[in-house]
Amino acid sequence: MGRIYTFVNQKGGVGKTTSAISLGAYLGYYGQRVLLVDLDPQANATSSLGIDKRSVRSGTYEVLLGLQPAGANILHNPRFKLSILPSSPALAGAEVELIEVNKREHRLSQALQPLVERYDYILIDCPPSLGLLTVNGIVAARDGVIIPVQCEYLALEGLGQLMQTIQRVRASIFPDLSVRGVILTMFDGRTRLALDVVNEVRRFFPTQVFQTLIPRSIRLAEAPSYGMPISVYAPDSTAARAYAALARELLQGDGITIPIFETQQGAA
Ligand code: ADP
Ligand code: MG
Repeated sequence: MGRIYTFVNQKGGVGKTTSAISLGAYLGYYGQRVLLVDLDPQANATSSLGIDKRSVRSGTYEVLLGLQPAGANILHNPRFKLSILPSSPALAGAEVELIEVNKREHRLSQALQPLVERYDYILIDCPPSLGLLTVNGIVAARDGVIIPVQCEYLALEGLGQLMQTIQRVRASIFPDLSVRGVILTMFDGRTRLALDVVNEVRRFFPTQVFQTLIPRSIRLAEAPSYGMPISVYAPDSTAARAYAALARELLQGDGITIPIFETQQGAA
């Protein structure tokens, strides 16, 4: 049965989408069947993979409203080694339209149920808010949430509120909800501040921060405009190596062995 992880942090611009795509692409590279779920009405994950969000006729919105089964809307890209359930601007209406719906926090979790046997990893990319869409993402995070944190001033700001939301979901819906890990993103080792932030976040989450640091990288910022994950756009870049290392760290923690021939093939 596949694992479901949700990338969450109500702060925008911390690297949720970049991490979901880049980590997803390397999990694919290491032989895993990966599905990305774009739960953001801004559809950044969708457009970062070269899909025009205005061309999406059916995606997360239709799935959440029960108009379509999730499986009917998945796009697979063999070159990127990724599949995606795309988003579209229509998703912005879902929070309001679901208000009257019974068990509205469970919509995504239920919709993904038929897919857990078809994928090894389902990665859900949340919008920058703690609204109903994000709560749907958290409730669906069967194997935990992954929190990207930017190595910048005020990095921890808002994390208290995020932990409160997680705690509320634990108390009311999903007692076993866990934090699978914290990813430190946009790390610049030349600055004292970045090192301070790393230490501060490690104090806040003593056991949950991934060892692998994601460096600040122009290549990573460029990749979405070319519609490619970093594993294809710039596989030799330091950022690509970092996400490959993060994928190996995650796989190891999940008890999955990487086939040797894959690790010897470069890129990593
Ligand atoms: P979020 O999904 O949390 O809003 P994004 O992943 O979209 O954040 O990242 C915000 C912006 O920062 C994007 O333009 C992205 O390309 C860029 N970015 C993300 N990670 C890095 C990084 N490690 N180095 C440089 N730019 C990055
Ligand atoms: Mg995003």
